[in-house]
Amino acid sequence: SRYFVINDRPQGMPERGLFELHTIELPSLKDGEVRVRNTWLSVDPYMRGRMNGIKTYVEPFELNAPLEGGAIGEVIESRNSRFPEGSKVLHNAGWRDVAQLTGEALDPLPKLEVPEQAYLGVLGMPGMTAWTGLNLIAEMREGDNVLVSAASGAVGSLVVQLAKAKGGTVVGIAGSQEKLDWLESHGIKAISYRDKNAEQLSADLKQACPEGFDVYFENVGDICLEAALTNLRLGARIAICGLIARYNDETPGHGPSNLDMVLIQRAHIQGFIVLDHWSQYPRFLEEVGPQVANGEIDYEETIEDGLERMPDAFLKLFEGSNRGKMLVRL
Ligand code: NDP
Repeated sequence: SRYFVINDRPQGMPERGLFELHTIELPSLKDGEVRVRNTWLSVDPYMRGRMNGIKTYVEPFELNAPLEGGAIGEVIESRNSRFPEGSKVLHNAGWRDVAQLTGEALDPLPKLEVPEQAYLGVLGMPGMTAWTGLNLIAEMREGDNVLVSAASGAVGSLVVQLAKAKGGTVVGIAGSQEKLDWLESHGIKAISYRDKNAEQLSADLKQACPEGFDVYFENVGDICLEAALTNLRLGARIAICGLIARYNDETPGHGPSNLDMVLIQRAHIQGFIVLDHWSQYPRFLEEVGPQVANGEIDYEETIEDGLERMPDAFLKLFEGSNRGKMLVRL
């Protein structure tokens, strides 16, 4: 098996040399174990947090030990009757080509008419995050005006479509012309944050939705948060899903200068971690799965080929050069 490790804790944006590819000979299978050849590997922004040596809501990655992450693969050898050879499975032993796992570490792939990698994106953890944040945390109601940052990403691109389907004005913030075009083509008002300060972004949001926003789905932080706060409606709900603009900061930055808007507009802010809501996954899949399968919900993927590309794929998340879900195909 070939797997990636990190050999040190990153300071700021991780350097390519931090990632090393190691090889081991896997031992023969014990009772209950299976060997999985991975076909798709996920890279996700939260992995940056696990690279710091600090426990948050998950343990940090160990140095020089196999990195982990969402993966899809096929069982190629089995001593577990639940997962015979040929089974397609979902698990967390990513960042490697072949994984050896017990049955408890595996989930069978749900059987919808979608490409298997959808279970790492729109119908997997990022999709579940979008649905949870919008419905269970921000409690979006029919007709609410909704603002979303990183709006064309894995999470954001589902948030905007679910919000659009419930009416109201949906505005997405994104970083490149292609992303803005994708949003516009789905009926979403799209605003770039590039080369703007919070005042300029705020003015653009006001123009796009003069009434202001009932819901803000936050993926970025920084000037997006500041501009959003200036454009809140009374009683607005803010779901803090992620703050990616901060993940590579070496020293903590300052918070928004206009936090008083939360007070003035009697807004609610709630952070959430999707894992806490995983019991709702079947409900999400039942609702969103068929819409993805029949094409009502659209999703994009950016694919890199080959295990060697994992670090590059991961770093692309912070450059914003991915459209939709960032994946590696083996
Ligand atoms: P995306 O597919 O959205 O990829 C990341 C995107 O973030 C980039 O494409 C880029 O888009 C944007 N971005 C990166 N750096 C910056 C920056 N400095 N300033 C502004 N935008 C930036 O990733 P995901 O959909 O997987 O994740 C989106 C967010 O959701 C992240 O914050 C992540 O941590 C969070 N998350 C939270 C979960 C939870 O349980 N709370 C679970 C899953 C994800 P652009 O070009 O538009 O700037």
